[in-house]
Amino acid sequence: MLADKDRIFTNLYGFQPWNLKSAQVRGDWDKTKDLMSRGQDAIIEEIKASGLRGRGGAGFPTGLKWSFMPKEPRADRPSFLVINADESEPGSCKDREIIRHDPHKLIEGALIAGYAMRARAAYIYIRGEFIREAETLFAAVQEAYDAGLLGKNAAKSGYDFDVFVHRGAGAYICGEETAMIESLEGKKGQPRLKPPFPAGAGLYGCPTTVNNVESIAVVPTILRRGAPWFSSFGRENNKGTKLFQISGHVNKPCVVEEEMGITFRELIDKHCGGIRGGWDNLLAVIPGGSSVPLVPAAEIMDAPMDFDGLKAVGSGLGTAAAIVMDKSTDVVQAISRISYFYKHESCGQCTPCREGTGWMWRVMERLRTGDADISEIDTLFDVTKQVEGHTICALGDAAAWPIQGLIKHFRPEIERRIRENGGALEAAE
Ligand code: SF4
Repeated sequence: MLADKDRIFTNLYGFQPWNLKSAQVRGDWDKTKDLMSRGQDAIIEEIKASGLRGRGGAGFPTGLKWSFMPKEPRADRPSFLVINADESEPGSCKDREIIRHDPHKLIEGALIAGYAMRARAAYIYIRGEFIREAETLFAAVQEAYDAGLLGKNAAKSGYDFDVFVHRGAGAYICGEETAMIESLEGKKGQPRLKPPFPAGAGLYGCPTTVNNVESIAVVPTILRRGAPWFSSFGRENNKGTKLFQISGHVNKPCVVEEEMGITFRELIDKHCGGIRGGWDNLLAVIPGGSSVPLVPAAEIMDAPMDFDGLKAVGSGLGTAAAIVMDKSTDVVQAISRISYFYKHESCGQCTPCREGTGWMWRVMERLRTGDADISEIDTLFDVTKQVEGHTICALGDAAAWPIQGLIKHFRPEIERRIRENGGALEAAE
């Protein structure tokens, strides 16, 4: 279990105030200028060496991403950092805790990361529904300006850097990086075709890197404590500490910082008071937010909670938001509800997603009630394969994978409903 001395987020539960004075007591903004004076390339190398991978779901190496930004930005084409605080993935609730209780970690991280990638400013795009969180963030940014930590000669580093907070309007798809850029530009939040990637042409057509809140908020601590410290946690290719969010049928749902690669069983027993009704009552877990396939109880129990560990059981770490389902769950209904979510959030640009998400949800509803033919299970699986990988953004995959996971692991349950329903109809005739 991660020792308290190794926690990055020391005010995750808000036991202390979030304000600048308290944040400084916790060590934030301590000699930020010295960290920056190491130089831009040295900071990028340190982050690369730490093994930090993006905490927003895709898991792309953070330092490598920064290195794609131009080394000498043109005066008429400045570089930007966009911080994704849209956190709309069902099950995910970690970035809001950072913003509520530790916003200065994020703001200091924005300055250092922005400096490292030679950005002129950071835009924090915060989910529209996060009303109180946005208030805290606006106030924290103002505190940083008032203290000379942002703006001209930020933190006396000689570097000019601004941070803007932008509130979204509640569309899930704006969490996709290019849709977020479109939305920031004042347009409808619809993903762009890639390439060009944001590092080449992003916000206002300028070089842009989009990073998740947690990925940026851990940067100052990694630099202060060193890459070897951060990479001493977790397994090869899956380094560091991570905020896990556990919801559903556990005794104490929580958000907790833990070492990457902790087993699911240890995570739940140590921090969540175990599974409701005991381990024998566990049915399945969606381990990374609603867009990854579920994993049945027997396979998830001892799986390491990291990128490779969850890939090995046919799922993914995603945002590390584990949705726990015990045996009281109607698993077909649960996945059908997720299908409805993706149908509702499809931006409608590409046909497989626009038409496919609605079609898949309608079939899921019929499977839920058993009002279907057994052969439709294979047809549905086939359609998910035709949606997967054939759309502009990953929402198509996100809609397909939960259904694939359900069919793979719970086919007998779906067939049972169809048979029982058919049996009931026959009896009625
Ligand atoms: Fe829009 Fe769906 Fe296409 Fe993504 S996959 S661009 S959400 S229609």
